[in-house]
Amino acid sequence: MYYLDLVEVKRLMRDLIPRARNLIDERLRGWNWFDSPIRPYSYELLLPVWDIACSICPTRRDAWIRHKVLKKSIPTTVHQAKGFVVHKIISSMFLKAKKLIYLGYEELRDELIKNAEESLKHEISEISKTIQLNEKDVDDLEDFCKKIAKWQATRIESKILEVKAKYPFINEESLVQLSFPIATEVIVDGSLLGLSRYLRADAAWMLGGMIFDIKLGRKEDWHRIQVAGYALAFESVFERPIDVGCTVYISKFGRNLKIERDFYIIDDNLRSVFLEKRDELQMMLIKDEEPNVADKCPKYCMFRDFCFK
Ligand code: SF4
Repeated sequence: MYYLDLVEVKRLMRDLIPRARNLIDERLRGWNWFDSPIRPYSYELLLPVWDIACSICPTRRDAWIRHKVLKKSIPTTVHQAKGFVVHKIISSMFLKAKKLIYLGYEELRDELIKNAEESLKHEISEISKTIQLNEKDVDDLEDFCKKIAKWQATRIESKILEVKAKYPFINEESLVQLSFPIATEVIVDGSLLGLSRYLRADAAWMLGGMIFDIKLGRKEDWHRIQVAGYALAFESVFERPIDVGCTVYISKFGRNLKIERDFYIIDDNLRSVFLEKRDELQMMLIKDEEPNVADKCPKYCMFRDFCFK
């Protein structure tokens, strides 16, 4: 997911990163969290980034149901629930791979696949506690995750072998650093921005300045807005610029996997839109204004039973 190819690295180094340097308005950096427009409407209600950015329900009634009725962080759609499971599987594989290296394993692929399949069972049973998945959903999700696990395990092993071939004398610590140029499941405290204390970005580039987020299926505008939210939170805590986002799209193409990486500058517009959405959602929830049922509801919204009973 996160290993970049040569063309992507060139685009980043020669185009996106240099272009971003002077492009972003200083007032829209997360480290200005104490000042408008970064300062949140309230510090009392801390929200997850995905809940703010997500644009599935046109009136944001889904967020209101989550916070005011169910008081649980459950996804709006089955598709979103599947995404949560896929995130967990991928990050668990990186974590396991690092552990195996420190334990002195020479061959990781089979062990990683076995571990991913065990995690998959656990994650499906966890998500089934909050959202109803039918048999077909479970079968599809299992098949998809197993494909991802095989592909990811092979990529990880091949990267490790490549590093070892170049540095046959390498120790475990250096092998981990060179084989994994990203930190996965990076936790950051978003409370300075009115965001959750335990925000979890999918991955961050070790060289700095870039956040990754994984999505299933097709591109939607709010995916970039979500990454802008993580970038602002990182900037607020670490006081270092996060200029570039990368949304990794995973889908099936026939019997194969299709992986596409969308790179972009986290520009003023993405930052402003995220901040507006944050303020609107905080205001709506704090004032306890029940949003109307949308005129056009996506048919896959899981909250239809609440809205149309
Ligand atoms: S059913 Fe419609 S109004 Fe209700 S949460 Fe879903 S999209 Fe929004």
